[in-house]
Amino acid sequence: MRVCRLGRLVVLALLLSGSALWADAGRPAEAASPEEDTLFQTSTLSALMVGLLGGVVPISDLAGQGDLGLGTLEGLDGELLCVDGVFYQVSASGAVREVAPDEMAPFAMVTHFEPDIAVEVPDGTDLPGLTALLDATRPSDNAFYAVRIEGAFRAMKTRSVPRQEPYAGLMAAVAEQSVFELGATRGTLVGFWFPAFVAGLNLPGYHFHFVTDDRAAGGHVLGLTTDEVSAALDVTPILHLALPGTSEFLEADLSQAGSAAKAEK
Ligand SMILES: [Zn+2]
Repeated sequence: MRVCRLGRLVVLALLLSGSALWADAGRPAEAASPEEDTLFQTSTLSALMVGLLGGVVPISDLAGQGDLGLGTLEGLDGELLCVDGVFYQVSASGAVREVAPDEMAPFAMVTHFEPDIAVEVPDGTDLPGLTALLDATRPSDNAFYAVRIEGAFRAMKTRSVPRQEPYAGLMAAVAEQSVFELGATRGTLVGFWFPAFVAGLNLPGYHFHFVTDDRAAGGHVLGLTTDEVSAALDVTPILHLALPGTSEFLEADLSQAGSAAKAEK
């Protein structure tokens, strides 16, 4: 059940690029730089669903793969997010702290955020309105996107989950979640959008984590209303998926893990 350094991970790189996508996004395929246009992901959501919560990648390795991201910590200990290269944990108590480089994550994704498409978000937009706007802006349903939104919010509703001991699946943790109504606040929303075809690997659709400007509150986003925000999408056509090399992962039956959509919505 113990940790496995990134060097021992079995690395599977899915190289997905399409010139039509890049033409739509205003950038040719040749402009894709592996560093900026790669989404790095450790482990799979289906592994979390069945309770594979041992850390498999140190935060320091994630930091080398991107400056914007989200995930969780060993034992499903709260909500993890990375803003400007700094990793934060929002614990089930609601407290926010900076995560040390040697702490381990069982599941996380990061990218070097380079805004490709700016998104106009009117004041007073709620979460369904925001996702509809982003949907209308995304050039394709068959690509991966990172989202960064920052500024003032009229309302923000988040949750976090408690560390599982013994390890239980994501649904059990979500049943024990704490919910926070943050009210009017300023901060940064980190998000990703995945196509339906990633089911099992990651969460199809949107997944947002939030942290306030004063780094005092945040979590996995359940609802919001914007005030004055700036928003941008980063098209990341390259998915670098690092599968854990632990026997726990390699011997697990992930065929029945099902969809995590219910747990994360
Ligand atoms: Zn989350």
